[in-house]
Amino acid sequence: MIPSVLPTYARAPLHFAKGEGTWLIEEDGRRFLDLGSGIAVNVLGHANPGLVAALTEQAGKLWHVSNLYEIPQQQALADKLVAETFADTVFFTNSGTESCELAVKMARKYHYEAGAPERVEIITFHGAFHGRSSAAIAAVNTEKMVKGFGPLLPGFVQLPLGDIDAVKAAVTDKTAAIMIEPIQGEGGITVVPDAFLKDLRALCDATGTLLILDEVQCGVGRTGRLFAHEWAGITPDIMMVAKGIGGGFPLGAVLASEGAASGMTAGTHGSTYGGNPLGCAVGMAVLDVVAEPEFLAEVNRKAGLLRQKLEGLVASHPEVFCEVRGQGLMLGLKCVTANTEVVKAGYAAEVITVPAAENVIRLLPPLNITDDEIAEAIARLDAAATAVSAG
Ligand SMILES: *Cc1c(COP(=O)(O)O)cnc(C)c1O
Repeated sequence: MIPSVLPTYARAPLHFAKGEGTWLIEEDGRRFLDLGSGIAVNVLGHANPGLVAALTEQAGKLWHVSNLYEIPQQQALADKLVAETFADTVFFTNSGTESCELAVKMARKYHYEAGAPERVEIITFHGAFHGRSSAAIAAVNTEKMVKGFGPLLPGFVQLPLGDIDAVKAAVTDKTAAIMIEPIQGEGGITVVPDAFLKDLRALCDATGTLLILDEVQCGVGRTGRLFAHEWAGITPDIMMVAKGIGGGFPLGAVLASEGAASGMTAGTHGSTYGGNPLGCAVGMAVLDVVAEPEFLAEVNRKAGLLRQKLEGLVASHPEVFCEVRGQGLMLGLKCVTANTEVVKAGYAAEVITVPAAENVIRLLPPLNITDDEIAEAIARLDAAATAVSAG
């Protein structure tokens, strides 16, 4: 008999009843150190008092009105994002997948309005993940994601990551955009070299192609800059955001330059919930903290501390781990043994990590994790690794 919850997930037998900062408390009372943050979502930890206050204050006033009316909370959050980033304009969604949908539509519409309706192709990269909608699975086009789901949305080309000559050869008079994650998350915490991002930017400039960055996982302070592309000294034309921006409230956004967004006029896109007062009030409370230079400096300091300790962990468990990868507090441990076994051993040691491709376990802690919690994380990961190597 089919379970009452559609069985599309392989779930761990854990039932968290409560969260406090970096801690998740199981129904049975066990306290787990959360290095997953609900997959890079809870950037300020669980039940953060500032976010709870923003949410409850707005909840007592107004949750939802639809985009038929002006929404001051949405306006304020858009103004903040425009002030803090390359963007001139913002559309609010509820998830990363929806941000991907709009990014694709926006890029194609831009060329259509510019008199080049044949420019519809979007270049993506092996190992990428952009979501689960029909556009997002066509973008990635792995058998695992697309098999059995019927005709794919046409117009996507997948290339090896990091091969600029392959990209140059693939950009034609049909190309609309290049879409890339500055750091692949699901793909295994693969950092795209700054030089490759710079080369893509130059190629896009030379060919009138739009650069779409997917910062759904690596954005919102995760790497120690508000957005990861800032490290490379480039800006995108369109950027997909979600996960961390709501701090746990479902919220996403597409940020764009005025030029890239110029085709998106009234009636060309919409969302019932996107940008509702509740989500935007919480998003504003998140950004008020995360966009502060002092906060980002702390993320960088703690990232250095965690990374240094992880290098030590890898050195003392070469039979379990072989590499630390990533940037900021978006870190991965490449495993020698099966990553899923390491994640499971972590559960036994009461520490939460998240598996990714390339046999990596991801560490995506709340950005306000403390130094003591970092030390505790290493102790628990060490216990998990010891258990794994003991078999
Ligand atoms: C999670 C993720 C998405 C999809 O976001 P959802 O909110 O799950 O739809 C898209 N791109 C990247 C890079 C992601 O990590």
